[in-house]
Amino acid sequence: MRIRPLVRLSFSCSRRMSGDRPASSAVKPSNVATQYQEQLFDSAAKGNVEHVLTLLKAVDVDAKNDRGWTALMFAARNGQVSVIKSLLEQGSSVNILNSSGQTALDIANFWNHSDASSALSDSTVVPTQECRNYYSVNPLNRASDRRKHPEWIDQAVKRDNTKFIVFSDLNPFLKQDPSVTSRKSKYILCLFSYKQLAEHIAKKPLLIFLGLETWDSESAVWFAVDVTGYEESKLKDVHNDGFFANPFPLTMQMDERHAGIFAEARSILTWHDRYSFCATCGSPTVVREAGYKRVCDNADCRSHKGIHNTCYPRVDPSLIMLVVSPDASRCLLGRKKSFPPKMFSCLAGFMEPGECIEDTCRREVEEESGIQVGRVEYHSSQPWPFPAVLMLGCITHAKTETIKLDNDDELEAAQWFTRPEVVQMITHQHPDGLFLPPKQAIAHQLIRTWVGNTSNL
Ligand SMILES: [Zn+2]
Repeated sequence: MRIRPLVRLSFSCSRRMSGDRPASSAVKPSNVATQYQEQLFDSAAKGNVEHVLTLLKAVDVDAKNDRGWTALMFAARNGQVSVIKSLLEQGSSVNILNSSGQTALDIANFWNHSDASSALSDSTVVPTQECRNYYSVNPLNRASDRRKHPEWIDQAVKRDNTKFIVFSDLNPFLKQDPSVTSRKSKYILCLFSYKQLAEHIAKKPLLIFLGLETWDSESAVWFAVDVTGYEESKLKDVHNDGFFANPFPLTMQMDERHAGIFAEARSILTWHDRYSFCATCGSPTVVREAGYKRVCDNADCRSHKGIHNTCYPRVDPSLIMLVVSPDASRCLLGRKKSFPPKMFSCLAGFMEPGECIEDTCRREVEEESGIQVGRVEYHSSQPWPFPAVLMLGCITHAKTETIKLDNDDELEAAQWFTRPEVVQMITHQHPDGLFLPPKQAIAHQLIRTWVGNTSNL
């Protein structure tokens, strides 16, 4: 694509919002990526759908300028309904806030672009794409049918294109992503071939079949290997910048797809680490199904009859919920004693046996805050591989407002926050320094959804 000279945007309106034109339009762009981004904002503002779609091949649809403005916001600022619809079709998020705490819908409302407002409102009420949370973006085809074919697994281990990721004491071997040049470091899993690990694999370490790279039968196969006790120097011969990382919170700074693969591998490896013995009779268990089952060594054990959840990797469902006030103008956030100072988040708690999502939500909210809630809406889920939790994210509607903390509970504070306050917390502009969990946490996404849905209040 040929780069054309940048054009300064001009607006006929006398009113102006901070940051409503590409901030660097008067500054010489520092690189090609910045030029493409500026051209995207320019084309969105002018309503040039065709050029916007071409530029999206090179620029992230939700790329921001230094004031936090996205292409969707520039289109909203100028009432460019066709561009808004195209950007939404391309997956642009309506929930992003600029550095002034405004969504694209806020901007369209401010400038009285009613058609643009309704296009954005429609999308806000019925999101065009489901929310994919961090740790859930696993690109592998798990191909569970292959697990029951040990000959196929043995042959797949030795293929030239097979990829291995390694863990020692449940810590993954990572390195900095060389393709990321921004100030914030990103990490990726170090990949090994069979030949590079053949000496270790010959000793029959714990080996987990993670999946196929694609649906093709000749696709690369991924495995996780426990290399606890193996010489780290031999791994560094392959990746000299690799290191065993303490998984939390460092794995929250990974390439998102690698984070998904890490979540699968670590949850399974942790299960093996903790469940070496039969829960029914106490005998040792042995690994089957390429790491996805453990069977009891004792031929007389009851676990050999029927299907038992003691034989399969466990997943522990927990609820995390954003409680919205009866008038929908505020949300309830709490502080656990273990949180970093000044951080608030959604309430959360584990499901109990025989309990449905809705009842867990109502019970946990009332136990922790004294608030009674009615309707419960499912939002999205997030695997949390510490060790194998599945967070089920909900938005729920309060019937009462009086907060009463349980003194024995780990929650040390809970309070109602208005939307402007929450926006300040999201953008790290709260006068008391209060803030929210990072965007990789499902709590952050629940709160952002509520902020986006209430932007016209
Ligand atoms: Zn047993």
